[in-house]
Amino acid sequence: METKLLNASQLDVAAHIIKNGGVVAMPTETVYGLAANALNGAAVEKIFAAKGRPADNPLIVHISEPSQLDSLVSEVPQKARMLSDAFWPGPLTIILPRSDVIPQQVSAGLDTVAVRCPSHPIARELIRLSYPLAAPSANLSGSPSPTTVQHVIDDMNGRIDAIIDGGDCAVGVESTVITLAGDVPRLLRPGGITHEQLEAVIGTVEVDKAVVNPLPEGAQAASPGMKYKHYSPKADVILINGTEQQFIDYVNSHSADGTAALCCSEDVGALRVPYEVLGDIDDMSEHARKLFSALRKADERGWRTVYARCPEKSGVGLAVYNRMVRAAGFEIIEL
Ligand code: AMP
Ligand code: MG
Repeated sequence: METKLLNASQLDVAAHIIKNGGVVAMPTETVYGLAANALNGAAVEKIFAAKGRPADNPLIVHISEPSQLDSLVSEVPQKARMLSDAFWPGPLTIILPRSDVIPQQVSAGLDTVAVRCPSHPIARELIRLSYPLAAPSANLSGSPSPTTVQHVIDDMNGRIDAIIDGGDCAVGVESTVITLAGDVPRLLRPGGITHEQLEAVIGTVEVDKAVVNPLPEGAQAASPGMKYKHYSPKADVILINGTEQQFIDYVNSHSADGTAALCCSEDVGALRVPYEVLGDIDDMSEHARKLFSALRKADERGWRTVYARCPEKSGVGLAVYNRMVRAAGFEIIEL
């Protein structure tokens, strides 16, 4: 299949493709997404095929106006309204009991649906032209999510109808996912909207165990995506939990060929291995923005072992930790 490369002035072409059951990669403020008509089960199946995504991993439905939530779910509780008023359009996904219009391919057989109203102007305009869109991240299943148009081209060229170039993604990690379908609001995936921000609006929000821990064997995942290996480059990623000096000493004393570091700006002068800087230690939004690019660069450079400095598990740091620890297959060295 020939994949067209489109720009922001060609959204009518993209909308036409989607109306005819095709698949288009679009920029959003989180990561690039692979979009198809959410109400067309056959079109949605093409997303799963292009990504190699397991059929039991449901997709997020994207809307262009918060009010469109009502037709996709069976009821909108007050806490959902409070969250959508506070954070939409933006990088927050809300899970609620689904309405009958949602094809089973989208919800992967669950009785709930995940909905998000993104803020990126290209995504919003494309959704307005072809609402509603089902859209997971536009990477091959298992590899780091795409945050630049080149990442999408690398993974999806020849596999989908078109890619819209919208520049680099501002948040850099996928949306925060919260479920309001159970008794208590529960954070299933941390992202650019933090746990602290959610609690400031609706009170107590539980953090699902799978956010920071490996899923025990045989356990059922609240969010099916969490049970799959994720964000993993070919290199062996290992998290180092310690002070700045302990991190530097550890990496320098394990500096064999093919070893490299994902580090903070503060570490640069002292490291004696190749490295990729994620940002200042106290700027986790910058780490989030750069993490997936850094993981892809690790492979381009043929790095075999990558030591990464363990972030604090608060604020946007929780989202960075969640992605890093999965890239590391939960391998952490405690110093
Ligand atoms: P992606 O679109 O690739 O960023 O992944 C979407 C994430 O949301 C995956 O981890 C899914 O398993 C999760 N998700 C989507 N829909 C639901 C749902 N109805 N219930 C629980 N998790 C969901
Ligand atoms: Mg994904």
